[in-house]
Amino acid sequence: MNPATLLALPEAELFRKADDSCRATFGDGIFLRGLIEATNRCVGDCAYCGIRRGNGKIARYSLSDDEILAAIESGYAAGLRSFVLQGGEDPDFGSQRLTRLAASLRERLGEGVALTFSFGTMKKSDYAAIKAGGADRYLIRFETADERLHLELRGSPLSRRLRAIDDLRDLGFELGTGFMTGLPGSTEATLASDLELSAAIGPDMIGVGPFIPHPETPLGTAKARGLVPALRAVAALRVLLPEANIPATTAAGSVAPDGRERMLAAGANVLMPNIGPIAAKRAYELYPGKICLDEDGLSCVGCLSIRALGIGKRLDWSRGDSPSFARRASTLAGQGA
Ligand code: SAH
Ligand code: SF4
Repeated sequence: MNPATLLALPEAELFRKADDSCRATFGDGIFLRGLIEATNRCVGDCAYCGIRRGNGKIARYSLSDDEILAAIESGYAAGLRSFVLQGGEDPDFGSQRLTRLAASLRERLGEGVALTFSFGTMKKSDYAAIKAGGADRYLIRFETADERLHLELRGSPLSRRLRAIDDLRDLGFELGTGFMTGLPGSTEATLASDLELSAAIGPDMIGVGPFIPHPETPLGTAKARGLVPALRAVAALRVLLPEANIPATTAAGSVAPDGRERMLAAGANVLMPNIGPIAAKRAYELYPGKICLDEDGLSCVGCLSIRALGIGKRLDWSRGDSPSFARRASTLAGQGA
């Protein structure tokens, strides 16, 4: 089915199709990723983002290597086997430092853990160094497939982001991308193009969240369009990309108390408890109303487990490679690559 046909389905039918497809690939398991937000400093000035360079009103922070390693080691001790390190485009988190961090995590935790990085657009040689250090996954959303909107909101062309995506795939990363729904200026046709571009990229992981206006940004007074467009997007993506890992995003949980459960029931199969220091969670304010700010991430896992049971699923503590990536990797190994 193509994106337009999927989007034309009644919501209940679309969500049921997505849930059937998700269970056919992943059973009732929900993969866990421990998320650490390393820095809210950013040279970027994306119009939607609360930590953009132009927001002079937030307190800036960045974690030290020791803080990052300690957070990940506690997550490992608690049983997590997949970690995501994310941040703004901060010159202090350039490729040399990220490579060093990847190498020290690999050395401490071995090959049994998945290490995902997400620090925006970089040169291919920088991505290559991080990969050589030991990172195995990279997340970079294309944000919107609408070229005009993309340029207007990010100040950089969509083609630049797509080149980064190509570079990452070329380098053998397990690749994650995604977009926001309900950006001001987007329409139902934009959503169909977002789905088409997602299917064309064919990523191993894809994350979608509702755009949430941040008052200290140029889009601060824009209208929020809520959870449903993001749920429809996730459900359509699950049908288009049956083997991709799809998170029930924090943004979904931030616009509705049951947002993540509803996303899990509409095709998502991943949860990402934030295991960074509590002060960092608060200061990494991409948008207002972010959830779980007062709990430490490992106590969040108990709450997530109950939420999973509520929709007939259970937490899966394994590395959670996407089946499409596992197949690609074994084909390459077979070719002696
Ligand atoms: N700097 C990196 C990663 C950090 S931002 C990058 O830009 O790739 C992580 C994601 O947060 C972005 O990809 C974007 O999709 C999302 N985001 C930013 N501002 C948001 C907002 N106001 N509402 C919802 N999601 C937002
Ligand atoms: Fe920086 Fe990423 Fe926010 Fe853009 S979305 S301002 S690159 S943190």
